Amino acid sequence: MLEILPIPAFKDNYIWLINDGRHAVVVDPGDAGPVFQLLEQSGLTLEAILITHHCHDHIDGVVELISKYPVPVYAPAKEFYDFPHTPVADGDLITLAALDLKLTVMEVPGHTLGHVAYYSQPLLFCGDTLFSCGCGRLHEGTAEQMHQSLQRLAQLPADTLVYCAHEYTLNNLAFALELEPDNLALQKRQQEVIELRTADKPSLPTTIGLELATNPFLRCDNNTIRQSLKLGENTVPAETFRILREMKNNY
Ligand code: FE
Repeated sequence: MLEILPIPAFKDNYIWLINDGRHAVVVDPGDAGPVFQLLEQSGLTLEAILITHHCHDHIDGVVELISKYPVPVYAPAKEFYDFPHTPVADGDLITLAALDLKLTVMEVPGHTLGHVAYYSQPLLFCGDTLFSCGCGRLHEGTAEQMHQSLQRLAQLPADTLVYCAHEYTLNNLAFALELEPDNLALQKRQQEVIELRTADKPSLPTTIGLELATNPFLRCDNNTIRQSLKLGENTVPAETFRILREMKNNY
């Protein structure tokens, strides 16, 4: 059985640590310090590092980690990295034999152009693409690209556990509730997340099913959302998405 642990880093990042009690893999180690600390405390052996995209808060711990533990690093083929790594592209299968884990690479451009997610049912590590009740900013890609990437993730099974790289959920929920104040699933999720955050627990993982019911960026075909944005019935979901993403930038 695999266990997924959050390693909080910086203000609101999570470095996810996948482990089976002996071996570990980390996703997006932006900071080496807290990873070293957990590995030493737990006696876990680092086997690999997975990178979703090239932003500093996701990669800045890599060089320090591999200088102590020379493990393979997997990173998107479409981005530049100045550390040794195995480039990965859409459809690639990564076999992590020590953990008996096979992950499929999904290219999900939008936040950055080469951004990838790592998927092994029921686990999804999606970096800064899909957040709980939100989505990543468009640093490099277009709204159209991000919309397509999110649509692709939305088609994964409803019980897929979504491990995003940031704790943005409460802020995202406030935005979502302005668009859909009567959405009961959203109201319930807000109560749950308030309790979790008050207890200093992560609001993650979320699930694809929960996101389909609550995340406005996955609900661009929803009438209430279109009405809140004063958009006509014929507005295509990609256009609703573009407008939503722009509104959220200034929220
Ligand atoms: Fe980030």
